[in-house]
Amino acid sequence: MKLVRNIILVLGLSMTLWNHVQAEMSSITEGVEWPISLNVSCQKLGAAVACSFDFINKNDKEDYYILKRGTPLEGLLSPFISLNYKGNYQLQYKGIHVHRNPPERDEFILLRSGKSISASVAINNVFEFPKDGLYTVTYISPLQYISKTSMELESSEYQLIQSQVKKSFSIYLEDVAASVSKPFKEENKGRLIDLLSIEGCGSAGFIGGSIKQKIGITKAHTQLCKHYRVAKNKIDNTQLYETWFGEYTPSRAKLVTEVILKCIEGLEGNAVTYRINPSMCRYNWNAFTYANSNSVSLCPAYHHRDIYCKRHGSPTKESILAHEWTHAFGWTRDFVYGEKRTKELAKKDPWKAVMNADSYEYFYCISQYQ
Ligand SMILES: [Zn+2]
Repeated sequence: MKLVRNIILVLGLSMTLWNHVQAEMSSITEGVEWPISLNVSCQKLGAAVACSFDFINKNDKEDYYILKRGTPLEGLLSPFISLNYKGNYQLQYKGIHVHRNPPERDEFILLRSGKSISASVAINNVFEFPKDGLYTVTYISPLQYISKTSMELESSEYQLIQSQVKKSFSIYLEDVAASVSKPFKEENKGRLIDLLSIEGCGSAGFIGGSIKQKIGITKAHTQLCKHYRVAKNKIDNTQLYETWFGEYTPSRAKLVTEVILKCIEGLEGNAVTYRINPSMCRYNWNAFTYANSNSVSLCPAYHHRDIYCKRHGSPTKESILAHEWTHAFGWTRDFVYGEKRTKELAKKDPWKAVMNADSYEYFYCISQYQ
């Protein structure tokens, strides 16, 4: 194993880039310094490129609960960092995209006043390092938290504070082809059975699951090609489009059309696989998949959902499949979830909305009723 040259250059991006975005929160406080700060550092350890993230509570009075979801505090289960090669080439995230139910209390971790919490993850599990050179890891995911006092008062939906933490670390890596492990997709393990052929929509098979679970998935899956086409035909300068994707422009509408077309072509042209209840599932996950995949994994919570799309677009078996295939075939991301935040994203950042999987999930379902 060759050694890495120096670990260098903590880029001096200070916390001045605190840039808060609305979450499920009701109010925003302008001009305050956020109480949680972050340090990032990376090093090569054997075949891994390991990054450590230290979250520090700088407030000398208040304790905070941090939402672990979407941060390294839950492991590497979302693209909370970006990876840049030689300052000009953004590498693609190759990890999982998870469809989850709203967070419950056990997804929060207490960060006491003046203390820090750390987590380390092997980023080579989700990024491929193509060549030797300088790589820059940037923390990009918004951090969500709530004061301990507020947490104790809340009854159901948490009013989270959301702040944009942006911190970078650069590292020079040598001999990556021989010494750094590559990402590995946890999929297509197990025996594929029950190939199902759907008129005008390719074929689908299952790995695992009970008969009842497979019947539910089959009913939902059978709707997909037909209803993706309905959605594609509704891409126009209408209220429906604007609600979920923001202000209509031909270039953004073209992108939406392309994503939906990729889903139709992906389902028509491939034998797709549903993996039922794989071991990676956690209790509040509905589903997960990868970009550029022919497979969607469905977790125990998924099977409790109703089958068909609802008029207001709330998650069902059908809508979740529609969402997941936009990740797998259309390479969408999860910038935000849920009706309220998805509508806000459309207004504030339509370029993100047209790449946000939940925006497609709502548009797909509601287009059937309009
Ligand atoms: Zn998603």
